[in-house]
Amino acid sequence: MKRIGLLTSGGDAPGMNAAIRAVVRSAIYFGMEVYGVERGYAGLMEEILVPMEMRSVSNIVQCGGTKLRTARCLEMLTEEGQKKAVSTLEKYGIDGLVVIGGDGSFRGAKVLSEKYGVPTIGIPGTIDNDLEYTDYTLGFDTAVNTCLDIINKLRDTMTSHERISVVEVMGRHCGDIALYSGIASGAEIIVVPEIKVNMEDIITRINRSRANGKHSNIIVVAEGVMSAEQFAKQLQDVTTYSVRPTCIGHVQRGGSPSMADRMLAAQFGNKAVRLLKDGIGNRVVGISKNNIIDMDIIEAVSMKKKFDYELYETLQMISM
Ligand code: ATP
Repeated sequence: MKRIGLLTSGGDAPGMNAAIRAVVRSAIYFGMEVYGVERGYAGLMEEILVPMEMRSVSNIVQCGGTKLRTARCLEMLTEEGQKKAVSTLEKYGIDGLVVIGGDGSFRGAKVLSEKYGVPTIGIPGTIDNDLEYTDYTLGFDTAVNTCLDIINKLRDTMTSHERISVVEVMGRHCGDIALYSGIASGAEIIVVPEIKVNMEDIITRINRSRANGKHSNIIVVAEGVMSAEQFAKQLQDVTTYSVRPTCIGHVQRGGSPSMADRMLAAQFGNKAVRLLKDGIGNRVVGISKNNIIDMDIIEAVSMKKKFDYELYETLQMISM
């Protein structure tokens, strides 16, 4: 393979820049040229491609966001759009493509490889951690750390006023950000899309914790269930403790990537290029039991994300 393309697509995630750097530098190491496609699949429609050199990716390993920018591209869902994407790749002499993004971006990559024979490698870049085949996605660790920082601050003020804090985190239909930030912040309760809300149980847990000497409570609510505001309103109707909602919002998607995300980025980017160098496409890379793995893209996108009920039970046992 002589020339590869690289794009970031869907929601941005901390670590995408570090992955861009790893892909570009690894490809150059193996004597391949790299074209960066700006604005995700939209860049293939609009032909916004830039050659990337060793120095194009200097000083970005620590930056949040994505240097290539990202977009949602509805055209890519149509046959006409997909053909346009393929013709742009042909026009630029691109023999293989690396797609950094989430579930939706992988579906686009799957179409390119399955239907049009473009060797494509997916790198999981999304804060949601909603892909079953990999233990972690790029950006998840940083996003959870951002949540922890905010929850720590909320705990200070909630304790002073003896309040209940309802904190909304992202994750779309996946409860992992809520689960991990809940456990790591010592939240008493998490509310996730995978488990039905039981307000009676929540009240029992709050009352028990207060009887045990707690002066505040943290409830982490995943956005896929309802907003912090809605949840706080429902809770305030059934408790005498004062409840305050906080939506963390888009700060979760920004910021300098953590060590864990930079390490994943380096390894995912390098693995993706090694696969293309060996003429292997139609795969996604990931991490499983601390090993960097690759898997068939069709198999990976068809897997349904499972919730870690054991971790949930751990939280129930240690946060009271
Ligand atoms: P995140 O999980 O962070 O939101 P994502 O990659 O899942 O990231 P999406 O908006 O779902 O984000 O998808 C990104 C882009 O991938 C879409 O805008 C579209 O261009 C392309 N895409 C999504 N689904 C398909 C599909 N079924 N076929 C072709 N392309 C798709």
